[in-house]
Amino acid sequence: MDATDGFPVPAFAAGTTRAQAQAELRRAFAAAGIDSAALDARLLLAAALGIGPTSLFAHPDAPLDRAGAARLREYAARRLAREPIARILGEAEFWGLRFRLSPETLAPRPDTEAVVEAALAAIAPWRGPQLILDLGTGSGCILLALLSETKEAFGIGVDRSPAALATARANAQANGLADRAAFVASDWASALTGHFALIVSNPPYIRAEEIDALDPEVSRFDPLAALDGGPGGLDCYRAILSDAGRLLTPAGHIVFELGHDQTEPVADLAAEHGFAVETTRRDLGGHTRAMVLSRERALVSRGSSPT
Ligand code: GLN
Repeated sequence: MDATDGFPVPAFAAGTTRAQAQAELRRAFAAAGIDSAALDARLLLAAALGIGPTSLFAHPDAPLDRAGAARLREYAARRLAREPIARILGEAEFWGLRFRLSPETLAPRPDTEAVVEAALAAIAPWRGPQLILDLGTGSGCILLALLSETKEAFGIGVDRSPAALATARANAQANGLADRAAFVASDWASALTGHFALIVSNPPYIRAEEIDALDPEVSRFDPLAALDGGPGGLDCYRAILSDAGRLLTPAGHIVFELGHDQTEPVADLAAEHGFAVETTRRDLGGHTRAMVLSRERALVSRGSSPT
């Protein structure tokens, strides 16, 4: 099979109008089993023409020029090979901010906004400057979303990949947050000391043996290092929790993104390290996606006697 799994790339012959190209593209994507065929067709056509997606409606009968048609063929071939739109366009929107992507960074997911929401709720009583640590920062999307909402916080984003760190730095700069963010190479928190009021992480949590069964957009294009959570999917939670105790302030919070069936196992692991679940938060699909842990609650529930 070729890169597009045998699905033909539309030719977009000379004289093809925008409306025809959009319809052709939508049909080709739908035939290849791409769920978001109509939306993807619109986004890629607009990008190939260098215009905003809504401008397509203004001139549906305008013919594609040669360069636009060539770009569209390239984009169509990439999408038919299951490359996600965000990677074709090179950027994604998350929490209303724009993030550049690179092959070493996970594409930001809308579901991950649940982590930002949970973290913001947990730190709502914050006064004054505080430190945030984001472990496995990738594009920097979680940390930078949090910094955009907390005017006095300073954040450290950690990643093992220097290329991911370069992308995160560029994203901090582009979003006007570079003066409150630093990006550091480390294997989880091993290189760090400090007192963080908030530790956030969307670690790799897919069970190693399940990665091939994910959508091809994920298994072929997201970096394996950002997905693979080891045989049981929990290796990275274990690594993070074993360092969290020495890095978190007494009243601090840890906020994790979770796989859809990991609420109990992560809560159990957290308990082994002296943390208890304060709250959880669901994503748009209704799955428990974010977990807020604190040490305080663990002490309270351990210390209180039943009355
Ligand atoms: N949520 C991602 C997915 O859908 C996985 C990201 C991760 O392992 N942290 O595949």
